[in-house]
Parts: sequence; C-alpha cells; structure tokens
Amino acid sequence: MEPCPECGASMDPRSCDELFHALLALDHSRQAPWGPLHGVSVSCFLLQHPSRLPADDGAMAWALLHTYLEGGLDEVNQLVGQARRDNSHRVKGGPLRVVRDAPLPHRDASRSRFSVTIQDVAVDGTFPSSAFTERVKAWAAATVDAWSCGT
Ligand SMILES: [Zn+2]
Repeated sequence: MEPCPECGASMDPRSCDELFHALLALDHSRQAPWGPLHGVSVSCFLLQHPSRLPADDGAMAWALLHTYLEGGLDEVNQLVGQARRDNSHRVKGGPLRVVRDAPLPHRDASRSRFSVTIQDVAVDGTFPSSAFTERVKAWAAATVDAWSCGT
C-alpha cells in the first residue's frame, strides 16, 4: 500500500483515518491520558494532514501546539477557554490574545518529513496509555519542527 500522501506514514495495516477515528473515540471517553490531550492530538493530526485544516488555515491548531510545547497543558486550557469566550462574545476574526512568536506557515509551504506520525503514537493501533503523553509531545514537536524548517 502507498504511504499516506500527507504525513508520509505507512498506511499498512491501518490508514491514518482509521487511527484518527480510534483516537477520537478514546478522547471522547474523557479519560486520562487521552481526553485532556484531545486538542493537542487533533492539532497534530490536522497539521500533518493540511488538506483537512479548517478555514482559519490551522491558526488555532498552530497556536495550540506552540502553547503546549512551551507552556504545557495548563496554558493550552487557558488558550482554549479564551477562544471559547471570544466566540461567545462574537469577536469577529479577532486575533488570539495569547500570540506566540510563531508565524503560521502557509499551507503549501515546503515541509520536511515528519519524524513522528500518528502511526508512531498509535503503536499497535490502540494508543496504549503507557507513555502516551510522551508520544504526543514528540508528535507535537515533530509537527512544529517539520513546518518550521522552510522559514
Ligand atoms: Zn497520514
């Protein structure tokens, strides 16, 4: 089977999509370690599969990954809470107040290979809880690294 055209991972025996759905099911169980890392996992997946990025070109996902790598999960939760408040007050297109020193790369920007993909995080396809947090952190770092190299 051809490797994934977006993240470059082998799709054998499971495609990235299948793994992503398995991961979302775990996230929605709201159990640790998966639930609390839901936003980080989704951001990694979207930025490694840019054709699926939402209309904001991944600005939120990008900000979230930088926040996670620099400030940890507490800061991510603040960022997400802040974005929610902004939405509820209908601040139109207002930039996030937590602005990191990380310009968003263009979605067509050249990027290097991702050294960690969803296949690595999934291990045997089940996203085992043991060392899951460490694998997600490596996934986030690999995602940001690959996108940052061309700039
Ligand atoms: Zn993929």
